[in-house]
Amino acid sequence: VGGVRIENLKKQYGQGANAFLALKNVNMQVAPGEVVGLIGPSGSGKSTLLKCLGAIIDPTEGVMKLGDQLIYDNGWKVRDLRALRRDKIGFVFQSPYLIPFLDVVDNVALLPMLAGVSNGQARQKAMHLLEALDVAHRAQAMPSQLSGGEQQRVAIARGLVNQPPIILADEPTAPLDSERALAVIRILNDMAREYETAIIVVTHDEKIIPTFRRIYHIRDGITYEEAGQGRPIN
Ligand code: ADP
Ligand code: ADP
Repeated sequence: VGGVRIENLKKQYGQGANAFLALKNVNMQVAPGEVVGLIGPSGSGKSTLLKCLGAIIDPTEGVMKLGDQLIYDNGWKVRDLRALRRDKIGFVFQSPYLIPFLDVVDNVALLPMLAGVSNGQARQKAMHLLEALDVAHRAQAMPSQLSGGEQQRVAIARGLVNQPPIILADEPTAPLDSERALAVIRILNDMAREYETAIIVVTHDEKIIPTFRRIYHIRDGITYEEAGQGRPIN
């Protein structure tokens, strides 16, 4: 039903003499409930792939299915990418990008409020995640008052709060210490299992790489699949 499926995806930047094939052949399948790692050196195409997956840029060729929906098929694509981004995809970025004039709980509650959930319920959902991420005691603080690690955990709560079927996380644990980095991965795994979410984590973080059961490596725009260690987290 859900999950992510990518077949023979290509992405070319520029045209003619300036053409550059940033994605040459990307194949990826993430089942609902699965958390996979995506690892590759600088310039290998990770950002380009995340932007294709996030419906921020269009691929050039191939097939991409997100959740139960085919969104790109060799030139054909769905019309309403904004709705797709809102309903299907949770983003957790490298930099937190919190809204500076909203306190922590409202930064997280904003998305469910925009989706029509009552303010009380949205804040309750937000608090639930903030507790799981060990930042509930900062709920009434403004983003500027938080440490980098606290901001990152709030940004993770915001990416998860609407329970999207797909979560794209770009270096989500980079600024966190080992214990907190593993806590984030535990939450992503719990989330995946509980809500059948398909989660892709772009990372270089040696603290979390051993936890993945499956890893995609990308090199010069080509993906390779590898079995991970799947080390239990605790
Ligand atoms: P990564 O995220 O792994 O560092 P990127 O996806 O950012 O890799 O880039 C992959 C390749 O595509 C690089 O060679 C980069 O220079 C090139 N590239 C990225 N974005 C563009 C663009 N908008 N126009 C042209 N080339 C680009
Ligand atoms: P990162 O290292 O985080 O992947 P980059 O520094 O590679 O980011 O790229 C930053 C931005 O510049 C991205 O949006 C990328 O698409 C764009 N970019 C990267 N390389 C090129 C390029 N050769 N031409 C145009 N845009 C590029």
